[in-house]
Amino acid sequence: APSFSAVAALRPSPAEAPSEASLKASPHYPEVVEKLRNVFRLKTFRKNQLAAIISTLNGRDAIVLMPTGGGKSLCYQLPAVCRGGKTSGVTIVVSPLRALMADQVEALRANRIDAMMLASLDSQDGDSMHELRTAANKPSLLYITPEKLCNSEFMKGTLKGLYSRHQLARFVIDEAHLINSWGRDFRSEGYAALHGLRTEYPGVPFVALTATATSEALQDIVTTLGLSDYVLLSQSFNRPNLRYTIIPKKRDVESNIVDFIQGNYPDQTGIIYCIARAKTEEVAMKLRMQGINARHFHAAMASDDKRRIQQQWQSGECKIIVATVAFGMGVDKANVRFVIHYDVPSSIDAYCQETGRAGRDGEVAECILYYSYCDTQRRMSQINKDKDIDEEQKNRKRQALYTVNAFCLNEIDCRRMLILNHFTEAFDPASCKGTCDNCASTGEVTELDLTGSATIFVEMIQELQNMCMKITGPLSVHAFRGTSASDMARRGFDAMKNYGKGSDISADLAKRLLDHLIARQILSTELEEAQVPNRAPISYVYLGSKADAFLSERQSFLLKVRSTKKGVGAPKFKKVAALASTSTISVRRRRPRVEAADDPVEPFSPRDT
Ligand code: ADP
Ligand code: MG
Ligand code: ZN
Repeated sequence: APSFSAVAALRPSPAEAPSEASLKASPHYPEVVEKLRNVFRLKTFRKNQLAAIISTLNGRDAIVLMPTGGGKSLCYQLPAVCRGGKTSGVTIVVSPLRALMADQVEALRANRIDAMMLASLDSQDGDSMHELRTAANKPSLLYITPEKLCNSEFMKGTLKGLYSRHQLARFVIDEAHLINSWGRDFRSEGYAALHGLRTEYPGVPFVALTATATSEALQDIVTTLGLSDYVLLSQSFNRPNLRYTIIPKKRDVESNIVDFIQGNYPDQTGIIYCIARAKTEEVAMKLRMQGINARHFHAAMASDDKRRIQQQWQSGECKIIVATVAFGMGVDKANVRFVIHYDVPSSIDAYCQETGRAGRDGEVAECILYYSYCDTQRRMSQINKDKDIDEEQKNRKRQALYTVNAFCLNEIDCRRMLILNHFTEAFDPASCKGTCDNCASTGEVTELDLTGSATIFVEMIQELQNMCMKITGPLSVHAFRGTSASDMARRGFDAMKNYGKGSDISADLAKRLLDHLIARQILSTELEEAQVPNRAPISYVYLGSKADAFLSERQSFLLKVRSTKKGVGAPKFKKVAALASTSTISVRRRRPRVEAADDPVEPFSPRDT
């Protein structure tokens, strides 16, 4: 069970959060409202924006936790243009990515705000820095990478100069979760260096902003920046208007998607995420062939094409984008009615970021994920092959993938609760009110004791491994149940001691048993290049890291299942419900189709994510 204690300790009691009345009584309030309307041309504040702005204008440190798209930028951009604050001068914004900085600076300049950016590692920025030292009119905001801020001696001198003249308004740490050592990657190493700022520039307030509210991330922000008395502005990450559904991936996903769109959201805006670039092109084409006007988008496209597609989508000219995760950074569209994951996302965090782009207007929006273990495995081998990250980072990614895989396989617990617990937020499933597939399911939960079947399955794999034979997942289910006899005989699997000993459970349940054995790391899988050129790699089943313990300690294997068919309540989602129901244990014994036995894993480009 997740621990909430760390967050509870960090989160202020409601009494400490500044009240609406006290914010409006602040001497800064009139100027703040004036800037909101006249500079940013917005009408009202979103939740916590005003509190963040007033807090920093009062010279207090603040941590702002807000979901992606919540409006974090305004929390520091607006105080940066206020002159009445306790500290005025230049607001230093630490940001990890050049592209994000450039977008923001451009947007600010469009609002006639003086913003500057220093991002190059060499001395190209010399003129800007010189200007920062000498010019009478300082910019309101200076965007800078952490490396430049902490490693450049010239930059330090410039900052010292500003500081001594009381022209250093505040330090803003955007995407502050990158401070966290676990969240750090090659782009954000510099965030660790931020720990020196408090002692070097005492009295300069911090604003740290992030959409990742895990307790580890929070704790690292607090200790690295040296915050003690700070205002924590957090809000629930629950998105009540989003509906979550996970559907086992069967053949012809595109037709399911077409049915879903035409049956529920014809002519509405949506995003379909795929792992592989080639897949985005293929899926978009298949959708077009079935009358859905979809376009693809991925990182390898010419930047002109990317810009054009993004504009067409933004304007509503093109409604449906089939994209890799390259699509979305900085995308802001209110009326996205559905986000479909064609494959398993890389983590719960990624799933939330991506589904979070749906329903920003507050209206009901649908999040559908097509789950197949093949996709999890494809991601796993992407991680294994990645040359840009070290072993520690690989392990972190693997763990995140296991977590999201287990999330997909869970057909019992409230998805909202699982997601929010991941972000250390408590959530009572009763409040979900059937807005996720598991809560909407009418099927009774029963716990099956599958210890006997699981033991047979694991011993069968052990037996094969001892004989130096290997087997694919689908074939292992056939061997376990003793079906597809001629194929088994041809491959010599029927000679095994454990062959066919699992015939007492249905094919669907056996398949599920295998998925859960893998998810619990009692079994594992590995992808191997096909022997024949141009053929997709093949996935084989092996003993997992927990197999020994499972067999030698005679551990029991319990599996919670829905005893009757799943049915999603709201008629609006009929199509989805019909698809979801195929995931239940089938009482029918279908004749296995041999040609469908090997789930081909398609080639992919490891650089896509
Ligand atoms: P975040 O950094 O939290 O992901 P942004 O700061 O980029 O989010 O804001 C997301 C979008 O919300 C932007 O288009 C921004 O203009 C808009 N926005 C922010 N605050 C407000 C507000 N008070 N009223 C209307 N729109 C807002
Ligand atoms: Mg942001
Ligand atoms: Zn639920």
